[in-house]
Amino acid sequence: MADYNAPVRDMQFVLNELIPLSDITALPGYEDAGEDLVSAILDEAAKFAGGVLAPLNWTGDQEGCVHAGDAVTTPKGFKEAYTQYAEAGWMGLGCNPEYGGQGLPTVVATAVNEMWHGANMAFMLCPMLTAGAIEAIEHHGSEEQRAMYLPNLVSGTWAGTMNLTEPNAGSDLSVVSAKAVPDPSGHYKITGTKIFITYGEHDFTENIIHLVLARLPDAPAGVKGISLFIVPKFLVNADGSLGARNDVKCISIEHKLGIHASPTAVMSYGENGGAIGFLVGEANRGLEYMFTMMNSARHAVGLEGVGISERAYQAAASYALQRVQGKIPGKSGTLPIAHHPDVSRMLMTMRSQTQGMRALAYLASAEIDRASRHPDAQVRARAQARVDLLIPIVKGFSTEQSVEIASLGIQVHGGMGYVEETGAAQHFRDARITPIYEGTTAIQANDLLGRKIVRDGGEEARRLIQEIQELASQLQASSDMQFKSMGATLGTAALSLERAVEWVLDVQPKHPAAGLAGAYPLLKCFGVVCCGWLLGKSAVLAANHIANNSSDAFYAQKIGVAAFYFQHILPQAAGLSQSVRLGEEVVASMAAGLNDLLA
Ligand SMILES: Cc1cc2nc3c(=O)[nH]c(=O)nc-3n(C[C@H](O)[C@H](O)[C@H](O)COP(=O)(O)OP(=O)(O)OC[C@H]3O[C@@H](n4cnc5c(N)ncnc54)[C@H](O)[C@@H]3O)c2cc1C
Repeated sequence: MADYNAPVRDMQFVLNELIPLSDITALPGYEDAGEDLVSAILDEAAKFAGGVLAPLNWTGDQEGCVHAGDAVTTPKGFKEAYTQYAEAGWMGLGCNPEYGGQGLPTVVATAVNEMWHGANMAFMLCPMLTAGAIEAIEHHGSEEQRAMYLPNLVSGTWAGTMNLTEPNAGSDLSVVSAKAVPDPSGHYKITGTKIFITYGEHDFTENIIHLVLARLPDAPAGVKGISLFIVPKFLVNADGSLGARNDVKCISIEHKLGIHASPTAVMSYGENGGAIGFLVGEANRGLEYMFTMMNSARHAVGLEGVGISERAYQAAASYALQRVQGKIPGKSGTLPIAHHPDVSRMLMTMRSQTQGMRALAYLASAEIDRASRHPDAQVRARAQARVDLLIPIVKGFSTEQSVEIASLGIQVHGGMGYVEETGAAQHFRDARITPIYEGTTAIQANDLLGRKIVRDGGEEARRLIQEIQELASQLQASSDMQFKSMGATLGTAALSLERAVEWVLDVQPKHPAAGLAGAYPLLKCFGVVCCGWLLGKSAVLAANHIANNSSDAFYAQKIGVAAFYFQHILPQAAGLSQSVRLGEEVVASMAAGLNDLLA
């Protein structure tokens, strides 16, 4: 079983050089988060990730959670690890200092969170869902609700959950049917069943604060009739102490493909008269509130994709450097399989894509920081437009790729990847959920196409493509032949992306089905090209260090990784662009096929 070593060097490079962090720490309120402090935080987080969380990853997968009565017991060592996590203050890293958080930039919290996902994705789901509850209450709750719940959530003393999904309401939440009936005492009585609730019940914390979507009796049908409620497992007394057990319980947990250490609960509300719930914000605006939080939730799942990809890569690289099999063409002596050209191709594919996805996820976080803190309203608005465009790509692309990367990880291990004891199979099983929850890839692709490209007439998408083309021109103007050729490749890829975007802008309003048929390849095309753009920028930064006589091997590797990506992955943009632009033909052939899908 390979260890997990947080990729601190690459994280520092992305943070300090590519973003760069100095731009973010110039924003009001972030002045204290200098390079030294961030470097110390990354080192400490890396120790906790590698030393405490990673060793529990495989045992947690094997043991799973146990549901008995109303209680759920997590695997051995998880509760203790959570207590350590909370006591060390990791939960509050990016949270508001007003409620006990440390107020660090989102981009710094992103690097740290990647480590938790890479070390132990199933464990990290609890803090991840708690972060969603914190955001919901902070942005939409009353002052009293913020004071009552946030300090204990931010400290990790309590955990949070998000209860959206019902048996008939998954991708389409407009049909949520859980009920909320006003009670004379001023709160609401909640009844209904929620399914697939991550950490809906567990033994980490003394209380669990459920955020629940439900409908009031007089609510209009559809998306405009859903409200958001706080439903604590234990009611909280005015003095902050825990009161009576609320009428909510876990009635079962799912048996899943992966993330076995994360309990996925079926939650029953109101079997004994109604769970007491407290309305968040205004009635009927629950789904709208969920949408305002969606950027961070979707970003968090995209980051899971990056973390699990890194873990799968490290395991594969470590195995490939030990396993000896066959003669390596053109080499004498006994060499491990990493020297076979095809194994090397797989490892470089995993590595280069993971580094590109990391850069993209951190860039999106930096834009989130800029959008919330920059003093100039125009800069904030532009940053927000960039965040809105990038989020479905970070979520949809990085999670889809994580499945492919983890699958390659198995391939590198050969038969030992298909059996469980190397851990490679677990990474694949764990990664597989990421393109499904928090909006499937289709939902991300539809969002990218409809809300993020067509709605603003392509303005932000064109602005991004323009920036990519500028880098392509800069590379093409280089006297270095390798960079010149990379510039040509990036220019062609950017042009392919541009063609796809222009086609969608033209066709989607006239023929929505044809546009939507191209939504997935469009999302993928964006992902492939954006990662190329950021790896290209990284190569330029690395080349500057080498030109200044740096002997740090990291920089040469950075150029090598980018060059591989440009040769082997980036040309996929042309094919993906073509798939987008064949939307009308695809719809016609699919319509023909629908007649005999089961024939
Ligand atoms: C392990 C796990 C943990 C989860 N955690 C939580 C949680 O904590 N809280 C919570 O509320 N939910 C949670 N979920 C639920 C999860 O968010 C949903 O499963 C997900 O949103 C998909 O919904 P669905 O399962 O109903 O699939 P469906 O919506 O039935 O989708 C089935 C297929 O149809 C496609 N499809 C549906 N609509 C469209 C469309 N408009 N355009 C194109 N294709 C479409 C989908 O992409 C998918 O391929 C979790 C699920 C799992 C498995």
